[in-house]
Amino acid sequence: MKIFHLSAECYPVAKVGGLADVVGALPKYQNLAGLQAAVVMPFYDRKFTQENEFETVFRGSTLLGIRRLYFEILKETTDKLGFELFLVKIPGLLDREEVYSYPDETEQFVAFQLAFLDWINYSQQSPDLIHCHDHHSGLIPFLLYHSRLYVRLANTATVFTIHNGQYHGAFGWDRLSYLPEIDLTQTGLLDWAGGINPLASAVKCCWRYTTVSPTYLHELTIQSNGLEYLFYMEHEKGVGILNGIDTDVWNPATDPMLANKISKTQITKGKQANKAALCKRFDLSPDKPLISFIGRLVVEKGADLLATAMEESFNEHPGGFNFLVLGAGDKETEKELLDLKAFYPESCAVFIGYDEVLAHLIYAGSDFLLMPSRVEPCGLNQLYALRYGTLPIVRSTGGLKDSVIDFGEEGGYGIRFNNADVEDICHAISRAVILYNNTKHLQTLRKFMMALDFSWARSAKAYIDLYKSLNPVI
Ligand code: ADP
Repeated sequence: MKIFHLSAECYPVAKVGGLADVVGALPKYQNLAGLQAAVVMPFYDRKFTQENEFETVFRGSTLLGIRRLYFEILKETTDKLGFELFLVKIPGLLDREEVYSYPDETEQFVAFQLAFLDWINYSQQSPDLIHCHDHHSGLIPFLLYHSRLYVRLANTATVFTIHNGQYHGAFGWDRLSYLPEIDLTQTGLLDWAGGINPLASAVKCCWRYTTVSPTYLHELTIQSNGLEYLFYMEHEKGVGILNGIDTDVWNPATDPMLANKISKTQITKGKQANKAALCKRFDLSPDKPLISFIGRLVVEKGADLLATAMEESFNEHPGGFNFLVLGAGDKETEKELLDLKAFYPESCAVFIGYDEVLAHLIYAGSDFLLMPSRVEPCGLNQLYALRYGTLPIVRSTGGLKDSVIDFGEEGGYGIRFNNADVEDICHAISRAVILYNNTKHLQTLRKFMMALDFSWARSAKAYIDLYKSLNPVI
């Protein structure tokens, strides 16, 4: 009955993207369904860890090559997140502020995994299943099954979820000594393209792997940064399960981060009040359609296309709509967007940075949310937008394809386009501007999409069914 989720991120402890939202919600819903799911993640020196109480439940040490690392396992004392939360703390490695981008990231995440295994091994814990998320915990399946140190745990079922297949966490064979007493006849299970590749190793060694949408499961065989053949060969082990959203956190009728709550019976009024607050803050006219973008400003998200597409659309529809961006990422893209804002101050606003409260207000106060992603394993933004009555404009890829139906099709409610290019984005924006002027149609679509069920309750059940197929005890 006992499941450990291992992840680099978990909302609200530390969030960079969708991984955090999933790991912060899925275990909670699994516990509500009668499982005993806990989360284990690295310790970060951030608001959540500073403001909450933890007790040390284990102290130990592990070897990373010739370096002995002393670690502590801390447990949040109240279980207020809806699951037991354990943090692995190692001075100098797992006690810093940021989640990613340290030069010793390999050491950081290998140490995290070793400390976790040593903890459950020495404290004689026997979970029924270990659920690893992305490459930061990708070595766990190999170590469980091919290291003499952990033979006691060698029958433990493992599930590996790929939230982003572009990042593999690969490192060179010169650092093999970081791994403890492994069966050297099995090192091929660690290898991809001449290096130790945690993502590839997890796919090879786990009992089953999942992707965060059914379409992404297929797309990984076409585009996964060099692992295409691996996914093609292993596809029978894969299952696509669309993420859900945490409807406790993302509920427009109760969300404390909004300027005004949006009740089911007063959708138009509620949205208008949030739009007014948003437009006031950014000095935009609330009378025009507001199209927004939220997310990492990276090529994967198609963020590099935004400035050119908006410039063309502003010229095509002079004064016809407003555009608002919240995000941070590639410096070049940030600059292009700030330049766009300087050139079109009445129609464009740009906030460079990360702001959870502002994100909620944008979901609530916008008319449309644009996602021109080149790669989108699931995408949560479109699900939040739907719930907050904001019509998603998405490229047909990954989870966007699985969750948004074009309003031109039967039962549709969003706007979809095929290519991540300027022409397709501009065409989609023209459709949005026309739709906005058909108030009645837009209101009907809003009401329809806000009633759609993308809650975790549904997706959590799909994970439980998968667990049960592996381990009938669960
Ligand atoms: P990814 O994990 O690839 O970044 P997802 O769509 O799965 O993309 O999840 C993105 C999550 O991060 C959403 O909750 C979104 O609201 C949030 N987010 C992204 N960028 C920002 C930002 N600059 N400020 C606030 N929230 C953000």
